[in-house]
Amino acid sequence: VTHEPPVSHLYRRQQLSESLPDGIDALLVCAAENIRYLTGFTGSNGSLLIGRAGDATLATDGRYSIQAAEQAPDVECIEARAVGPALVARAVAGGQVSVGFEPDAVTLALHDRLSAAAEGGKLVRTEQLVERLRAVKDAAEIDALRVACQITDVAFEQVVLKAQVGVSERDLAFALTTAMRQLGAEADAFDPIVAFGPHSAIPHHPPSDRALATGDFVKTDFGARYAGYHADLTRTVVVGTPAGWQRDLHAAVRAVQAGGRAAATAGASPSNLDRDAHTGIEAAGFRMAHGLGHGVGLQIHEDPFLTPASPAGPLAAGMVLTIEPGGYIEGSGGVRIEDTLVIRDGEPELLTNSPRELIEIWVILAASRPY
Ligand code: ZN
Ligand code: ZN
Repeated sequence: VTHEPPVSHLYRRQQLSESLPDGIDALLVCAAENIRYLTGFTGSNGSLLIGRAGDATLATDGRYSIQAAEQAPDVECIEARAVGPALVARAVAGGQVSVGFEPDAVTLALHDRLSAAAEGGKLVRTEQLVERLRAVKDAAEIDALRVACQITDVAFEQVVLKAQVGVSERDLAFALTTAMRQLGAEADAFDPIVAFGPHSAIPHHPPSDRALATGDFVKTDFGARYAGYHADLTRTVVVGTPAGWQRDLHAAVRAVQAGGRAAATAGASPSNLDRDAHTGIEAAGFRMAHGLGHGVGLQIHEDPFLTPASPAGPLAAGMVLTIEPGGYIEGSGGVRIEDTLVIRDGEPELLTNSPRELIEIWVILAASRPY
């Protein structure tokens, strides 16, 4: 897969400059995903200073100087060992005396060093300034997410639907990772969750040596990362003919997932969507031990969160998020169905499109055998 989405880091930095709260002369950006979003720089050590006038300075160490110049050619780069303090000292010396910082990305130890560097000026807490911009994706971001989701869908078809009885959860997880890399993924979006039989009742079960057996649910939650962007897909299939309780559980989750997708439109309230999903699962007699979904982008979990106490405002067109209700019966099994989708004014645009019905993989395996 080759894909070069056009990205305007300059436009994003302008948006940020214009959204700086009164009383802040410059913002020190320390979160790696935020630096990538604003400049394109992907090194592991960097800090970025954005001024009110749109001025931008990226600090990194000698290991990343060449990379920074290539990835962020339109940003002034300086070399420093302690990147954050160097930028803060520079800002204060240059008259930007009030420097905002991101509390989520700054440890107490770093805060001490930043405070020392800010002598003569002051540090000011900010809240989610870059994250708020990141919540609504531009066309280049949606392109990258679309590719990540396509890779994930194909891996599901190639690996999960062809799983053999006897394979272990670990084997299947490794096969998913391998398939996605061969299809063009740069990495897993997160460690794949593969759960057979009773393990499927554990929402985030880590793959074990358990071997796949007839009658098992197979719950897989995984995704590809492409150009920094994450896909997130969960499907639950069954080996052989499902038992009555498996059909009922799957049908209940599938109906709630379809309802959640239909209701996920611009203007919808994240906490109401979550509440309605829990109500639906509980009305069917099952339990859902997690929120309905989350934003996806440069991070696998990001704003907006679809949870009871979500601080997120109404959904907006261009947000990308998951809808992932589940029902779990401890000791027996569980079902989750999860899609990644783009919020639009009407129906959301689905980025993951693997089949949502209860697929019986033993039937497919038997039918495809040449003997
Ligand atoms: Zn997931
Ligand atoms: Zn998810």
